[in-house]
Amino acid sequence: MLIQNIVNTFFCSCTYVLTVDDFSWLVDCGDVEPLLSLLKGKNLKGVLLTHAHFDHIYGLNELLMLFPNVKVYTNESGRESLLNDKMNLSRYHETPFVFEFPENIRIVDGGDEIALSKDFRAKVIVTPGHHPSCLTYVIDNAIFTGDSYIPGVKVVTNLPQGNKKQAHESVDCILSLSESGTIYPGHSS
Ligand SMILES: [Zn+2]
Repeated sequence: MLIQNIVNTFFCSCTYVLTVDDFSWLVDCGDVEPLLSLLKGKNLKGVLLTHAHFDHIYGLNELLMLFPNVKVYTNESGRESLLNDKMNLSRYHETPFVFEFPENIRIVDGGDEIALSKDFRAKVIVTPGHHPSCLTYVIDNAIFTGDSYIPGVKVVTNLPQGNKKQAHESVDCILSLSESGTIYPGHSS
């Protein structure tokens, strides 16, 4: 699996482009323009959302207009936030965002496995605390943590629906996983 990282203009959030056999997948979606050359000629299958805060989702409408078959993976809380500009916090920025392709959402939960190709699967781990929509994805030895764990940075829990205790438990869980893997966090530091 090839992993390429794009650092987005908004809050330096990260989009990861995964090339898995003949397919491409994204982890989160901010700026679309820099993705296009990486996705050219590739079969983009889906977007794995680490959580549904604005800075991790704001490119999704533009992306889905270009790639209408792409599925967006999140949990039930993420679905709610995708469809509500107050919950995804975009209301407090210049461009309120509401996801316009709800039929493309696929709900996943802890323990689920998303088939990325014949040989690769993304294991879904629930890591709330920063936000109830926080999911961590383990693919081979790569661990995509979003804002549930950013090395050297304290988890932000003072946003709506944040929970300090859950955040600590999630960090412990991720740290135990990271002994045998590499962390790919939700922001570039
Ligand atoms: Zn966030």
